[in-house]
Amino acid sequence: MGLKTNKIIVILTGAGISAESGLNTFRGPDGLWENHRLEDVATMDAYLKDPQLVWRFYSMRRIQAANADPNAAHKALASFAFEQSSHFDTYLISQNVDVLHQRADIHNRLDPICMHGSLHQTRCMGCEAVYFDDYAYFDLSGNYAPQETTLCNADQKASASYLHHYKLEYRNFLPISPCCKQPLRPHIVWFGEHPMYMEKIIPIVQKANIFVTIGTSGVVYPAAGFLEMAKINGAHTVCINQEMIPQSSLIDEFIQGNAGEKVSEFLESLSKSS
Ligand SMILES: [Zn+2]
Repeated sequence: MGLKTNKIIVILTGAGISAESGLNTFRGPDGLWENHRLEDVATMDAYLKDPQLVWRFYSMRRIQAANADPNAAHKALASFAFEQSSHFDTYLISQNVDVLHQRADIHNRLDPICMHGSLHQTRCMGCEAVYFDDYAYFDLSGNYAPQETTLCNADQKASASYLHHYKLEYRNFLPISPCCKQPLRPHIVWFGEHPMYMEKIIPIVQKANIFVTIGTSGVVYPAAGFLEMAKINGAHTVCINQEMIPQSSLIDEFIQGNAGEKVSEFLESLSKSS
């Protein structure tokens, strides 16, 4: 009697999977937020110069993300990981910070690796401890008005790493870390910083039997290299996107269309074949 081994499916998602969730764009028609270029608020320089401005920006993004809902594609991935767990080990790597994968993951099976960080986490500038934190510290008009959003789920809010379990001190209207009494920053990869969790991601990509990219053009490294890495290691490669991506020669199966519809269809056919 041989041991049954699960197939390993690795999924990489980008902005395209959240397009149908009605995530408001924070940029105006001129591509700016309150006359700031994104490069001027999403950097360490900006944070050191004006942490309140940066936290106003991320407070707004937390509010906007909390007002969007996971769509059919987020839900299909979460159900697949749960329902097919005796046939497939499902790994999810996301470039998105919007927390929609986590909010769709009602069975707690996906545990997405968010290589660009996520909006529901905050990091200590002293020791790099990461806390769950779904507070918007400023309202959409820029007024100091700390309020809880729904980005963290009940388990996260109950855990010891939920920032607001601590009696926080504030400096310049911003919370100070309970661990080191140092400033806190969004747990987000800013311009000029490296993607996170690569030491975890690379071995997962290398062992993929099936590698699926969803809603990402795949042109920005290091994510662009994952497809090649999976292919070299023998994975069957699938691309679900509105249009073919530049690395078309590395794709075994191209599925064109909206993520909301096509992801469910693809995962259903995979379930039937298992
Ligand atoms: Zn600390």
